[in-house]
Parts: sequence; structure tokens; C-alpha cells
Amino acid sequence: MKGKICVTGIKAEARHGVYDFEAETPHPFIADIVLYREDMPSDDQLSSTVDYEKAVNIAYRVLTEERVNLIETLAYRAAFELASTFGCDADVIVHKPEAPLSRSVFDVSVTACAKYKKVCLSLGSNMGERAKYLDDAVQYIKQAAGNKDVRVSSYMKSAPYGGVADGEFLNACLIMHTLKSPRELLSLCAEAEKRAGRVRKERWGNRTLDIDIIFYGDEIIDEADLTVPHIDMCNREFVLAPLCEIAPGFVHPVYGKTAKQLLEELRGRRE
Ligand code: AMP
Repeated sequence: MKGKICVTGIKAEARHGVYDFEAETPHPFIADIVLYREDMPSDDQLSSTVDYEKAVNIAYRVLTEERVNLIETLAYRAAFELASTFGCDADVIVHKPEAPLSRSVFDVSVTACAKYKKVCLSLGSNMGERAKYLDDAVQYIKQAAGNKDVRVSSYMKSAPYGGVADGEFLNACLIMHTLKSPRELLSLCAEAEKRAGRVRKERWGNRTLDIDIIFYGDEIIDEADLTVPHIDMCNREFVLAPLCEIAPGFVHPVYGKTAKQLLEELRGRRE
């Protein structure tokens, strides 16, 4: 059974705010937290639920540890940390009842929602110790804050694509749940490529490591430097075949077809 655990009214005194005078004397901040549980325990065991003390301490620490300008920052940080600590979606509301406004108000509050998205990445390498580059990237992604339930396909060999690279590729797909935004995820992929010593020469050229975002939940993103679902994924057996190994039912949000259907269609077009 699904459920929510709420703790309200976590009080702290701190010096946040954009004005210098707010740094001089502490003023009140209050946090409310909501943890979304996929499985509410039915066994009446303390160990089966979340540690409320720990949750409250996280929120309190974020409210007090570092002076910031905005309560948005506090809500974001607390929601992210609660969601990654307990592995569930989390909302945090931060109140600033004494916000310095020209009119008297009862309260000012902001809410941050840390929500896990199911995402799919494609990884490939065709230079040097290819399996090691893929292994290292998977480890790097696994340990990054805000990622959970990482699953990786087997590594599959494929011929170079696009007519520029010459060495055989080793490809894999990774699915996981992440709290990262699409841009944060893109930066994580770029950082993993950098750690593998990737040097960008030409498009589709040889590379120690290439990581593409294939799906970001069911979101459709069409921006200059980010297209999701990946623009060419339906033409790439080296994306669809490993994806089908771990998530054949992942639905393409534009075509409304599963990864399995897309792979069958691709193979059909080749016959
Ligand atoms: P490449 O590494 O040669 O595949 O190209 C990477 C560039 O493509 C990055 O700098 C991204 O800005 C851009 N890009 C656009 N859409 C995506 C995507 N879905 N996944 C990864 N990179 C993308």
C-alpha cells in the first residue's frame, strides 16, 4: 500500500535572507516534510519504516548549517537530501513567517518536490580498455547523489556507426531512477566522459566513452543542445537491443511504442 509520512513544524532560528540586516539577528524558519512511501509497512515493526528522528535532523541541519539568500535553496536542499537518504520522493515546505515585506503577512512558504524519474542512458566505447571504461562510468553514475536502482544490460559488441569511427564498439544500456534534472543528468554524463579521457574530435568519431540520454521518464525535450528521447535512438540496434534486455516495456513518449516494438520494427526495416 502506498502512503505518506509527514512531519510538520520543524523549527529553527537562522540568518537567511538577501538583506544584510537579516544576517545580524536570527529569525524563525519552519520546515514541513512529506515522504512518499511505495510500501507502507503492515508488520508493525519500527525497522520497517523511516527513521523520523533522522528525517527531522536532516531538515533541521539544512535550515541551520549555511546561510543562504533564498528559502527556495533550503527547500531544494532538504528535499533532495531526504529523497536520496530514504530512497523515496519527498516534498519540503519551508516557511519564513517573519519575511521582511512592506505589508504584514501571516506566512511566506515555498515547496520543493524531489521526485524520482525513470531514465535510460546508452553507453558506448570503441577505444582502449572498452569494458573498463563502461565499468567505471557505471560505478561513477551509481555513486552520484540522487541516483538509485541502477540496472545495466550486458555489454554488446557492435560495428562502428556513422562512417567515421573504425574500431568495434562495446555498448550497454543503463536504467535508473534519478532526482537529477535533465541538464544535471547531461552534466553527469559529460563528466563521466571527461573522466574517461574523452577528446572530442569529430562527430561519430572514435571515443573512449560516449553516453547519451535516451529517455527521461516520458518527457519530451527539444532544445538546441538536448533532444530527448534521443533523436536517432530508433535507428540504433546498439541502443534498442541492450535496452530490451533490461526494459523492453519502456514506452517512447512520441511514438507511443515500447522499446521491444521499436527494435522489431528496426529489424523489420532491414530485412
Ligand atoms: P556526442 O557525444 O557526439 O554524442 O554529442 C554530445 C552532444 O550532443 C552533447 O554536447 C549534447 O549537448 C548533445 N545532445 C543532444 N541531445 C542529447 C542526448 N539526448 N544525450 C546526450 N547528448 C545530447
